[in-house]
Amino acid sequence: MPKLSVRDLDLKNKRVFIRVDFNVPLAPGGREITSDKRIKASLPTIRYALEQGAGLILASHLGRPKGKPNPEMSLKPVAKRLEELLGRPVKMAPDCIGPEVEAMLPAPGEILLLENLRYHPEEEKNDPEFSKKLAALCDVYVNDAFGSAHRAHASTVGMIAYVPQAAAGLLMDQELKYLTMATRNPARPCVAILGGAKVSDKIEVIANLGKVVDKLLIGGAMAYTFMKAEGEPVGKSLVEDDKLDLARSLMLSLKDKLVLPVDHVVVSEIKENAESQVVDTIPDGMIGVDIGPLTIDHYSHVIRTAKTVIWNGPMGVFEKKPFDRGTVALAKAVAASGATSVVGGGDSEKAIKSAGVADQISHISTGGGASLEFLAGIELPGVAALTDK
Ligand code: AMP
Repeated sequence: MPKLSVRDLDLKNKRVFIRVDFNVPLAPGGREITSDKRIKASLPTIRYALEQGAGLILASHLGRPKGKPNPEMSLKPVAKRLEELLGRPVKMAPDCIGPEVEAMLPAPGEILLLENLRYHPEEEKNDPEFSKKLAALCDVYVNDAFGSAHRAHASTVGMIAYVPQAAAGLLMDQELKYLTMATRNPARPCVAILGGAKVSDKIEVIANLGKVVDKLLIGGAMAYTFMKAEGEPVGKSLVEDDKLDLARSLMLSLKDKLVLPVDHVVVSEIKENAESQVVDTIPDGMIGVDIGPLTIDHYSHVIRTAKTVIWNGPMGVFEKKPFDRGTVALAKAVAASGATSVVGGGDSEKAIKSAGVADQISHISTGGGASLEFLAGIELPGVAALTDK
């Protein structure tokens, strides 16, 4: 890692500002957390910093309060859950800057959770004055919020100019380690599996991964845009007609690498348990909703030979059963391959969990947008801003 890690810092008796991603889903009303996955993901960094003798200031955004206080997007429920998980007190600040916060700053071993950064419009505007005020709270800065690293905000980029050292947290470190390894120096063969609704969302990812990987297996509705570009019938399947030229040029430049499905599960109407058929050629009026069994076999075979697998996006309309079959089958193939596997995107993660193979995946990224930008070869501003080693 070219960037400073929290392990490189001397944290004893220091006040550490840790930018975490506590953007947790809340039940309506904003009092109950429906998944504490993101809180748990930052526990290693929090515990490490406490063990080193630091006082912790934790800061995050939650939801989109649009620059003003909104009690339904308060981090108070997070403070409570964090207290339970750590088994020690977590003080909740009434704001993220200002005299009341300054009066609560933590001594070594203490934890202060700041209120939602996005209650202030200056956070998303990356405002220098606001950045200075955040920086003035601490001695050193750590970013563990990989999921926000693609945004240049005050807490992810701006405040770093006003702190002496800015390091990656353990979660951030792990994300960067796996994503860097998979995209810069993968063990070969390296296979990417890309699915989801639209080619347009993943053009840069396809183009960038195309330079690195040995095979790019395409599924989901994205496949139909490529098929239509080749002149193959796609019926009423989801296609981006304005992206056909682009699909054609990607296929030309990646012709030995890009692999398309050879059979399809089709329906006349997308709904749960709709009557379906498996076809090689999509008939007029029918809609492709999943990759077919021959494609599952072929893709699984390619995956089994891989040493590195990168996966983003489902192979079909995965939310509607049984059209999750292709996605779940590939999740099992990735797990069984023994390859170093890096998975991003909420749907692929769900598939991996419903296939019961999450513990056999090397790394499941916590940042959807950030991991896509990384895979597209875009430098993440929240990473670029950290101090070089
Ligand atoms: P993305 O966010 O781009 O990864 O896309 C995920 C979405 O793609 C999911 O909601 C899927 O239902 C959708 N999707 C995947 N395959 C298809 C398909 N064949 N037809 C329509 N939607 C699809």
